[in-house]
Amino acid sequence: MSLMKAVTFRDFGPPEMLQVTEVERPEPGPADVLVKIHAAGVCYHDVLSRAGKIPRDRPNQILGHEIAGEIAAVGSDVTPERIGERVVIYQRLSCGACRYCLDGRHDLCRNSRVLGENGGGGYAEFTCVPARNTIRMPDGLDMKAAALAVCPVGTSVRAALGVAKIGPGSVVLVTGAGGGLGLHQIQVAKSVNASVIAVTSTEEKAEVVRRAGADEVVVAPDLKFSREVWRLTAKQGVDAVLENVVTGTFGESLRSTAQNATVVVLGNIGTRPVEMDPGLVIVRRIRIAGSGNATYSDVRRSLHLLANGAVKPFIGEVLRFPDVARGHALMEAKSVVGRVVLNGW
Ligand SMILES: [Zn+2]
Ligand SMILES: [Zn+2]
Repeated sequence: MSLMKAVTFRDFGPPEMLQVTEVERPEPGPADVLVKIHAAGVCYHDVLSRAGKIPRDRPNQILGHEIAGEIAAVGSDVTPERIGERVVIYQRLSCGACRYCLDGRHDLCRNSRVLGENGGGGYAEFTCVPARNTIRMPDGLDMKAAALAVCPVGTSVRAALGVAKIGPGSVVLVTGAGGGLGLHQIQVAKSVNASVIAVTSTEEKAEVVRRAGADEVVVAPDLKFSREVWRLTAKQGVDAVLENVVTGTFGESLRSTAQNATVVVLGNIGTRPVEMDPGLVIVRRIRIAGSGNATYSDVRRSLHLLANGAVKPFIGEVLRFPDVARGHALMEAKSVVGRVVLNGW
């Protein structure tokens, strides 16, 4: 039995619960690969898990589902030629057999779980996953950037291209544009030559939103932006809204739309119901659509966008794996803009 370094959490609680420890290194089963982890993104989902706010979680897990690394060993059914391949790991273990999985919509599988929720997570030297969960990354792509392909970038690709189906000439409104999703959504939208109106609540975030490539930035501390969107679009409205906030903004988002627009719901800041004007939805034929995690093809597209520079990863802090508690604390205090990424021991 060989050991590996990992970070686990003793119990639900504050960031200090995260501790470096040694655990048994997993052995690949016949269809698995062992991945040496080079970089792991820290997601807000991990912060919620550690704090005990996600049902079904148990303490003592290895968290983290945004993983980039290199195949170190393979099971008996996997070709040894894959050893040494640089990969990202699709973040959910799905059944592979339901009608959604067979249609390539692993994001809809009802028999799946996210890596790190029940072991197998990224805050470790190695992880073991089914070979089909690994996606080869383009040559030359930095491991830290690649670690963002599954979650912030992949989720943005799903919402903007998969659900809203925006393309050249589409006018897209992004709410909460200064957040981790918004900053990547702006770039994904620009990669298909859409034009982007970004809404943010503070002047200081407006600067970073402009840097991400937004064509217009509306600073709306009072969350009132539809009048300005109306003016910017010559009273035409927007073709799609990527709603990262929803609480306190949903009515304004609906009022900002063109006919036949799609309003994609990603945010749930207030975790409570919001009001909707059915008359407005009917008259404008607005489609309201939920969006969640990326599909395999979204992840491949994300890797391509990161590799060709169309999407620049927003990384706020790079920490060594043993310092992940500091990363959690920074995120809880909202004192980091962009992803915290772990790299090196
Ligand atoms: Zn994530
Ligand atoms: Zn399935």
